[in-house]
Amino acid sequence: MDFSFTDDQLQVQGLTREFANREAAATIKECDETACFDRDFLTKMAEAGLLGLSIPQRYGGTGNDYIALGIACEELEYVDTSLRVVLSVHVGLNSLTLLTWGTEEQKQRWLVPQAKGDKVATFAMTEPSAGSDVAGIQTHARKDGKEYVLVGEKMWISLADVADHFIILAWTVPAKRQARDHSGLSCFIVERGMNGLTTASIHGKLGVRAGNTGSIALDDVRVPEANRLGFEGEGFKIAMSALDQGRYTVAAGSTGLIRACLDASVEYARIRTTFGKPIAEHQLVKEMIAEMAGDYEACRLLWLKAGWLKNEGKRNTRETSLAKLYGCAAAEEAASNAVQIHGAYGFSSEYNVERFYRNAKGAQIYEGTREIHKLLQGDYALGLREDKPLRCTLPIPE
Ligand SMILES: Cc1cc2nc3c(=O)[nH]c(=O)nc-3n(C[C@H](O)[C@H](O)[C@H](O)COP(=O)(O)OP(=O)(O)OC[C@H]3O[C@@H](n4cnc5c(N)ncnc54)[C@H](O)[C@@H]3O)c2cc1C
Repeated sequence: MDFSFTDDQLQVQGLTREFANREAAATIKECDETACFDRDFLTKMAEAGLLGLSIPQRYGGTGNDYIALGIACEELEYVDTSLRVVLSVHVGLNSLTLLTWGTEEQKQRWLVPQAKGDKVATFAMTEPSAGSDVAGIQTHARKDGKEYVLVGEKMWISLADVADHFIILAWTVPAKRQARDHSGLSCFIVERGMNGLTTASIHGKLGVRAGNTGSIALDDVRVPEANRLGFEGEGFKIAMSALDQGRYTVAAGSTGLIRACLDASVEYARIRTTFGKPIAEHQLVKEMIAEMAGDYEACRLLWLKAGWLKNEGKRNTRETSLAKLYGCAAAEEAASNAVQIHGAYGFSSEYNVERFYRNAKGAQIYEGTREIHKLLQGDYALGLREDKPLRCTLPIPE
């Protein structure tokens, strides 16, 4: 088994690390404190090629494999979770979903500008009254000739107020909505500028304050039939396959957060003294640092395995969910302990660890809550859940 990164993967690691340091490290604290999303940052990510990661070159992307995408997520989240979230929704949830399920025409029209970074994309499933319970969504799409008319509201959508393209999940068969039958759901590609589409930002968030999270209102938005992604009734399968890629980026990002907590804790533990010696020499402090170091390695292996399965074209829903579950739990624990090691200073914004702590909580909620992933893992282990083959699968990197 070869654990070393390829030259391409190392190049992505170096490029992303340098980019995050240069473009975000110095300003992220202020962006977080003022909860101000910097739209120019997306342009800079595009120029660096980050918005086209893992998309084939013939569709305007970089052509890197899926491990490289994970590496970039780790490097971005080392600086701040909000940077990684951009890749999670733009590449993970949207572009890779277009790559998997889109027709050639749809790829040329929407994926190419997204991979080049000319357009920013996101994915909208959650609504004010339904998140984990996907069948509880209310948004519906009524067929009218060669168009669908979309009505509904989406909430807690990353990049909602800045994105140009949206993948929207909606009911297309009212009777199936009543019966909570997933085969009545379909996915649509909606563009900013379509009549009836409005977006807003959500303020007062606990974490990811430097990122944009918002709502989308769909008020009789007329969407051509050509904008339907996949077949009618395939929406739930498409959304779940999108989550396989989104959750992977969250899992990979979580190890960046753990490493950031570890580095900050090691630095502080070496200089802070109590009882006549650096706190690094107290065994209980050492224990917290040892846990971070171990969790970083273990969680990294989990997402690397999921990434390897993706590169091989093998189903990875179970492995990706496990990597997300463990990575996000360990990141929350690492951030909590990093605050603990910093004592009262950890409780203030003077140090980064309080931001890490607030950011870590979000990932226990989005892309499947901690509880939903535990249920999934329990069901797999008990033989109550089995993955059925999908009509379209994530392409093997070219
Ligand atoms: C920062 C941020 C960014 C987000 N970005 C996006 C995005 O880009 N696109 C998008 O579509 N959504 C996004 N979301 C929404 C996110 O995916 C949902 O919040 C998440 O799925 C949980 O849904 P909910 O908030 O409605 O909680 P609920 O589903 O109402 O759950 C509430 C609580 O009940 C628990 N629970 C629910 N059902 C069960 C069960 N069966 N068994 C045990 N416990 C259960 C949950 O684990 C949770 O603790 C984002 C959320 C946040 C916070």
